[in-house]
Amino acid sequence: MNEQNDVCPKCGANLGEVTETATGRKLQRCSKGSWNPQTHKNEGCEYVKWLEVPPQELEEKCPKCGANLIMQVTRFGKKMKKCSAGSWDKDKKIAVGCDYVEWINGTTEKLDETCPKCGEPLVLFTTVAGKKMKKCSTGGWDSAAKKATGCEYVLWLKPGQTVSDNGEEFLPPEE
Ligand SMILES: [Zn+2]
Ligand SMILES: [Zn+2]
Ligand SMILES: [Zn+2]
Repeated sequence: MNEQNDVCPKCGANLGEVTETATGRKLQRCSKGSWNPQTHKNEGCEYVKWLEVPPQELEEKCPKCGANLIMQVTRFGKKMKKCSAGSWDKDKKIAVGCDYVEWINGTTEKLDETCPKCGEPLVLFTTVAGKKMKKCSTGGWDSAAKKATGCEYVLWLKPGQTVSDNGEEFLPPEE
């Protein structure tokens, strides 16, 4: 374990265990604070330390330049593959090096149900953050015209009520 930052800067208590959110981000709460899923509020000390999720090297090569690709999780839990030869210049606010990026979208599974609107099969769509919805298999998104195509039937399923899933939306912003 890393011992250097194990004490809460707000109240001096020890920090609790490292926990992981539904979207794969890691955080450490003050041991004097806890998340109450009923009230959607922090109780006690509200200090939360976000931990860096180290990018994961992939076996895949960049189609642009041939360097290794890495998997990165943004602070909003979106996943992307990006080229390890690319980076972000914080001072100039520009991308330097190779700019290859591939966003990872959710997954779709075929269902044995039919759409109540048009009778076509439904699919189960799982977003990267783990939210699920049933949607019509004829529905799509025309990214060139920026509009929905086909049948627009969508039914969001109740999210699995995990503490970390709900907690993240109400946590104080990262410092
Ligand atoms: Zn504290
Ligand atoms: Zn590249
Ligand atoms: Zn439909």
